[in-house]
Amino acid sequence: MSRLEWQVATVEAVLPETPRVKTFVLRLPHWQPHRAGQHYTLRLTAPDGYQAQRSYSIASPPEQTGQIALTIELIEEGEVSGYLFEGVQAGDQLEVRGPIGGYFVWEATRQAGPLLLVAGGSGVVPLMAMLRHRQQASVPNPTVLLYSVRTPEDVIYGQELQAMAATDSTFTLLLTFTRQAPTGWTGYQRRLDAALLTEVLRRFPTSPQCFICGPNGLVEAAATGLAAQGVPPENIRTERFGPSSNP
Ligand SMILES: Cc1cc2nc3c(=O)[nH]c(=O)nc-3n(C[C@H](O)[C@H](O)[C@H](O)COP(=O)(O)OP(=O)(O)OC[C@H]3O[C@@H](n4cnc5c(N)ncnc54)[C@H](O)[C@@H]3O)c2cc1C
Repeated sequence: MSRLEWQVATVEAVLPETPRVKTFVLRLPHWQPHRAGQHYTLRLTAPDGYQAQRSYSIASPPEQTGQIALTIELIEEGEVSGYLFEGVQAGDQLEVRGPIGGYFVWEATRQAGPLLLVAGGSGVVPLMAMLRHRQQASVPNPTVLLYSVRTPEDVIYGQELQAMAATDSTFTLLLTFTRQAPTGWTGYQRRLDAALLTEVLRRFPTSPQCFICGPNGLVEAAATGLAAQGVPPENIRTERFGPSSNP
């Protein structure tokens, strides 16, 4: 079956991540190996035939066979995210096709150098697939996830990321809270800026491969900032999720 053909997935589980984010684990009748960073297209069809489709990054690593996990943020007045968030439960069926994308991907065996992942909000999803893949492949490349969120309750995969950082000395988790930090927080509390990116880049022995994902503003700021610090443009890959949200 071609990856561009639609298939009907069964929802195996719906897992709450934050008050506004859920992970949907889908079992696929025609599962195909994906690369970390790729996405699926999901299509909803109303009884009158009206259809809406949206892209969703794969959160699960390629090593997890037979199923994929999609982590979806509820967008205010969002047509598709609203339906998924409110109305879909285990046992339901959803139409998907994929995996799609060949640019915003990271493969442990082929790109084992230093890695800088920059996420804003739900932009962490494809980067989480990369981190899970990296963990499964046991690659010791120096890796930093710089993750911008509004408040502590908005951190997606918080426990898993903390556990990864605690058990893997080659992985560093750097959170920045842009609206409200946890009590006693001594880390970053602002949007990404030049000074912050300079500090993060100093952690690397050589210029890292960079993957940036999130809302337009964050992606723009991070990509421009990293290029200004001398990271070669070919080392900077970006993926934009939405028009306006500002973590
Ligand atoms: C390659 C790719 C991968 C993606 N992966 C994910 C993912 O893993 N998880 C995820 O939650 N989303 C992801 N998205 C975003 C997703 O495709 C939808 O755009 C999002 O779910 C909103 O769709 P909707 O139908 O709910 O909202 P719509 O009905 O399309 O929009 C409702 C309103 O919200 C605005 N809006 C749309 N998207 C956003 C946004 N992201 N932030 C703020 N405002 C917005 C619209 O301009 C509109 O005003 C990805 C997008 C792309 C291009």
